[in-house]
Amino acid sequence: MEDEEIKIPKRSYLNNLQPIGVGTEKVESLTSYIARVAESHSLYTGKLVALLLLPHMNKEKQLSQFSGGFQFKNSFNNTSYDSNFYNINGLTITAEEYVTIMQDFTLRCDLSFLTMLKYSEVIVNYKLLSSKFRWCPYCYEEMAVSKNKEIYNPLLWHFNDLNICKVHDNYLEDTCPYCFNKMFAFTNKFKPGFCSICGNWLGREHVARCVDDLGWQYFISESLSEFVRQSSNVENLPKQDIFINNLKKIVKQAGSINLLANYIEIPKNTVGTWVNKNNFPSFNSILKLCYIWT
Ligand SMILES: [Zn+2]
Ligand SMILES: [Zn+2]
Repeated sequence: MEDEEIKIPKRSYLNNLQPIGVGTEKVESLTSYIARVAESHSLYTGKLVALLLLPHMNKEKQLSQFSGGFQFKNSFNNTSYDSNFYNINGLTITAEEYVTIMQDFTLRCDLSFLTMLKYSEVIVNYKLLSSKFRWCPYCYEEMAVSKNKEIYNPLLWHFNDLNICKVHDNYLEDTCPYCFNKMFAFTNKFKPGFCSICGNWLGREHVARCVDDLGWQYFISESLSEFVRQSSNVENLPKQDIFINNLKKIVKQAGSINLLANYIEIPKNTVGTWVNKNNFPSFNSILKLCYIWT
């Protein structure tokens, strides 16, 4: 019998975990995914980033990250961070680099859906995501008792403008109830569901609803849910030209750029730069435009 060549499928370097909630408003963030992959290899998130991901990125990037205060490689204290790391979930080159390298190592092709990269043509990064980590303790608790028991951080929790969890009608929390520390969005011991500083479980049973500011925050929550749901819809890519045309229609409805600027409480020169394609609006400005014209 002739020797037959045995074809072995390509093996991934890191565990090929399925990202949670792709195509839904519950989609997880890329930092959450990286942390879960690290845990599946019994590694701290920081070790995975420092020993595997950063060495495969360009040298300039590594230097800027280390000079920014991030010390994964040299010091594994709990609070080491880089002020730019929260952008892994965003729409800049940082997100692109982490998507590319994680896809290379896991052999997946859907990790950009865990970021805001799809919107890079129409939104600026300014104040889009929060550098501090915030969470809903009641969502964590429900994840822990759910059938598959997967604990993760939804992409929604990372947005600067969102302060509530609409599922539980409660404000997102930013301070650990055990050690009273605030956490950065991505740290050495970053692990969904647990405090990066003291390691305690952050989930707890839901008792009462407490959100009183219903209008604006619920509007933000609904809008952001739609944004993240659409992040995996590759056939419907937002284009700058379509955005500008819609913006011009809104200017016409308002009467003038000056009047529109007054409505949304933004300097008229800034609105002018959007219309003339010299600048993109911040996510907060887009939310204001949608809130007034819906
Ligand atoms: Zn919740
Ligand atoms: Zn703590």
